[in-house]
Amino acid sequence: MSLRVVALAASLAALPIAATDDGASTGRPRTQTLAIEDGARLLVISPHPDDEVIAAGGLIQRVRTAHGDVRVVYLTDGESYQAGVRIEEHVADPKSSDYRVYGVHRQHEARAALEALGVERGALTFLGFPNDGLSRLMTTYWSERRNAFVSPYTRRDRPRPSEIVVPATRYRGEDLTQELAAIIGSFHPTMLAVPRKEDQHADHCAAWYFTADALGDVRRVEADFRADVLNYVIHFNSWPFEDESALLPPPDLPAGPSGWLTVPLTAAEAARKRRALQKYESQMRMMDWFLMTFARRNELFSRPPAFRVVLPIARNPCAAFAEPAAPRAK
Ligand SMILES: [Zn+2]
Repeated sequence: MSLRVVALAASLAALPIAATDDGASTGRPRTQTLAIEDGARLLVISPHPDDEVIAAGGLIQRVRTAHGDVRVVYLTDGESYQAGVRIEEHVADPKSSDYRVYGVHRQHEARAALEALGVERGALTFLGFPNDGLSRLMTTYWSERRNAFVSPYTRRDRPRPSEIVVPATRYRGEDLTQELAAIIGSFHPTMLAVPRKEDQHADHCAAWYFTADALGDVRRVEADFRADVLNYVIHFNSWPFEDESALLPPPDLPAGPSGWLTVPLTAAEAARKRRALQKYESQMRMMDWFLMTFARRNELFSRPPAFRVVLPIARNPCAAFAEPAAPRAK
């Protein structure tokens, strides 16, 4: 894997870009409406259950309305949220079994949330990789040259058997890249929504690198494969601000060459997104204000500049967003 050299260009030409205000006259970042083609095939990469609805609950509805197909891939179960586990599982000092149960609980919530958006269960894929561990798989825990990563929360070193896409998958970076490449290669998305690398949660940042690496693998096999890659942002300083009715871009994050792309939601779509968010009961109990701050009249994306990501990498680009080492669960 380390010898792979894959050049990958973002498919900037996939959608027409209308001539719009470049921001120079208003001082505001350039924003245009994202066009959604009939029959689009949308793949949403979600680091944790709830990110897909927070970022793209409206886009998912739009694609379905356009007779398209939606697939959601959850990289982790969001199982390591210690404060959430304490409350949900009624334990002061959670054990590995509590984290595992919490992960299953969040999977159930994801199914209910996507059902609220009209997406059937078969469109959801849970990869069961380690929450708060993804970025370390890009560096230290990349290949079988060393032991797989062991989650300090669940004590697992591999997904559940039913979740394994590529045989013999362990918590290793190259295994995650291979699973994502297999999913992308079989679903053939025309649109792919994935966190932006500047998203300040280490799992979100790592989701970008793994997806970009997997896209390189797919292009190596299918040279003409193209997908419109759309980045979303969830964690960025204190953004988004609660006192705005529209979701405006983070002030300190440049959109890049595509400008910001907005998906305006009808009142009915916004209400349905809100209902889907409310299905994440465990998360609503902990931070309903944060989830609901994304339940606006629009969603925001940007396209990455041309990119070339080849993992593994020596220095973890998401390390700045990582949380301190967690206590090991018993
Ligand atoms: Zn997340």
